[in-house]
Amino acid sequence: MQKIAAIIVAAGEGMRLPGDRPKAYRLFCGKPLWQHSFGVFKAHAAIGRLVLVANPAHREWLGEQEFVPGGATRQESVANGLAALAENPPEVVLIHDAARPFVDAALIDRVIEALAAGHPAVVTAVTVKDTIKQVAEGRVTTPNRHELYAAQTPQGFDYGLIAALHSNSASTEATDDAQLAEWAGVAVHLVSGDERNKKITTPEDLPMTPRTGMGFDVHRLIPGDGVWIGGVKIPCEWKLEGHSDADAGLHALTDAILGAVALADIGQHFPPSDPQWKGADSSLFLAHAAKLAAEKGAQIQHCDLTIICEKPKIGPYREAMRARIAEILALPMDAVSVKATTTEGLGFTGRGEGIAAQAVVTVLQ
Ligand code: MG
Repeated sequence: MQKIAAIIVAAGEGMRLPGDRPKAYRLFCGKPLWQHSFGVFKAHAAIGRLVLVANPAHREWLGEQEFVPGGATRQESVANGLAALAENPPEVVLIHDAARPFVDAALIDRVIEALAAGHPAVVTAVTVKDTIKQVAEGRVTTPNRHELYAAQTPQGFDYGLIAALHSNSASTEATDDAQLAEWAGVAVHLVSGDERNKKITTPEDLPMTPRTGMGFDVHRLIPGDGVWIGGVKIPCEWKLEGHSDADAGLHALTDAILGAVALADIGQHFPPSDPQWKGADSSLFLAHAAKLAAEKGAQIQHCDLTIICEKPKIGPYREAMRARIAEILALPMDAVSVKATTTEGLGFTGRGEGIAAQAVVTVLQ
């Protein structure tokens, strides 16, 4: 079918989703919410023209992106998008809400196939799994679940039909476009939607993305009265040399957390040149990194620390380290792993000149 256009509606305020920007511009998997569905339609070979309808007050979030200014209601916004196509009208148009980022090509195909088969109004919908209760004038009734469907977008229409319905509609209360067709007595054809094609309304609807950070640190062993490593002091005739307590294990973990949320490194947050960190307990660094991560909305899921040294023996202190790290990060013990290895006598760790530590941290953000 020739001349298929699509309209992506992103003009809402998205007030139910708190944050520093309107819902359509919230970052999800590294890009603004609206770009997810926009990208799927743009990549679809059958879609010849694509119109983004956005709120002109949100121009700062759109950068160079061209858009059609939205109206006060969703219905007005769609009408503006349809009007933008009027000069060179397409045969059919798909209308999609940007708040549904999980739309895929197969769903678009189903709508286009139904339009090509001659249906003038096509709605995607899924069956309702819950028993729905209807409450009217204090009386509860139960509609037949097998007759109920939850409507999604995209919805597809004969362009001339939907443009006329929008321009002639006196009411602005339609919550989707198919409703205008229903009111006009047009037979609406239902095609199978997709359970994954969820609408993002509240923060809980926005899935979190896993992110991984890694850290590495080395400190020199010198004569002393004990080695601080992994948050535990191991009594022995050495210590680690450094500005703070030189706990290479907690430093590697701190860098791994900062890495997972892309917040630079431990040296930037706690400069060795700053006298306030002289002899500091490194648990302060780790707790601060965890606080910064939490402020960015990240939840630490797991951390894994490997201590690389010939001396002192780590094994007897491993469980104490896990408990201390779990305490600092407020994690359950089974989310904290501590391992130890030697380098078979090779290199600086093999010669007992220092201790190296590597850490990996996984967060959900
Ligand atoms: Mg260090």
